[in-house]
Amino acid sequence: MSQVRLDQVTKSFGSVAVIPPLDLVIADKEFVVLVGPSGCGKTTTLRMIAGLEQTTSGGIRIGDREVTALRPGLRNCSMVFQNYALYPHMTVAENIGYGMKVRGTPKEDIDTAVANAARILNLGAYLNRKPSALSGGQRQRVAIGRAIVRQPDVFLFDEPLSNLDAKLRIEMRTEIKLLHRRLQTTIVYVTHDQVEAMTMADRVVVMNQGRIEQAADPITLYESPKNLFVAAFIGAPSMNFVQGRLEAGDGGVVFRAEDDVAIPVPADIVEHLSEGIGKAVVLGIRPEHTMTADPTFPTIRVHVADIEPLGPHTLAIGKAGASAFTAQIHASSRIRPEDTFDVPIDPEKMHFFLKSTGEALR
Ligand code: ATP
Repeated sequence: MSQVRLDQVTKSFGSVAVIPPLDLVIADKEFVVLVGPSGCGKTTTLRMIAGLEQTTSGGIRIGDREVTALRPGLRNCSMVFQNYALYPHMTVAENIGYGMKVRGTPKEDIDTAVANAARILNLGAYLNRKPSALSGGQRQRVAIGRAIVRQPDVFLFDEPLSNLDAKLRIEMRTEIKLLHRRLQTTIVYVTHDQVEAMTMADRVVVMNQGRIEQAADPITLYESPKNLFVAAFIGAPSMNFVQGRLEAGDGGVVFRAEDDVAIPVPADIVEHLSEGIGKAVVLGIRPEHTMTADPTFPTIRVHVADIEPLGPHTLAIGKAGASAFTAQIHASSRIRPEDTFDVPIDPEKMHFFLKSTGEALR
């Protein structure tokens, strides 16, 4: 049982409070990704779990053990770093087995554990090579191998794929997911890349300025972001935001954009929006939800500045009134820069946020 539990954990560096009281429970065997912009406190949180950083206050438990005051070596966590941290003068096998050797593990046991890790990570052919003779992806696998042989209760990954090229990063994502399935160990993984977070995690924890904005499975985050921060952070290209007001009239509720365009809000959505009627709100719509051809859908007028062909579809990038707006259009579309066109919006995919708080109304 290797649940990780942070209770009211805080961290200050000198007088600077980096983590305000933080509560987070990571379930046994769960793969949790901490994601957020640079400086939001992801690495600090991970290092406090590892014991590489002391908490300023609050408590950390791993399984049924209170570990807050324990030194890193006693927490039974294995950490994998961005820069691999391999010993250049040792072979792959020696690097993987080094921790066991230091602890005085018998040679046969080290050999068995190293062979096992090498088999899991496809490193069998490289065991006698030095790190300098490996690719970036192979080096990262060695670093993961070193973590595996310790049979930790919890794996901690700190941006492990940042130094790899885009193609290798995608391959390694899959490998780490398979590893998790195979080893069934709790994983806490830090990245600033929301795509990495979404594709790997059982649960994504979106952090901002040391706080948790939302913690949920990837689809919930995508479909029901709790606030403007999460809505803007999750999804690529980013959700479009149009400023306006919700107004109730004889014909029902409309969203009136700043340029006076009125978008009717379907009756079945209105019941969720009562708190925002008569107030300044932000309409959120993802670029991928602007390609529908249903003639009954409301539209928003977009002036196109640029066209980005992506193959399966194209992005039309421009403005709706004063707001930046990106629409996904068919690859065969004849829309060109400087064109103006009416983008259909699927009412079921509209998000509304209260402007004053940024909180989602639906
Ligand atoms: P990144 O994605 O850039 O690594 P992060 O979300 O992991 O960012 P942290 O490294 O946890 O962020 O840093 C959080 C904040 O704490 C930052 O403002 C950083 O400058 C500060 N910080 C981190 N370590 C120290 C330190 N040892 N001394 C002082 N400030 C620190």
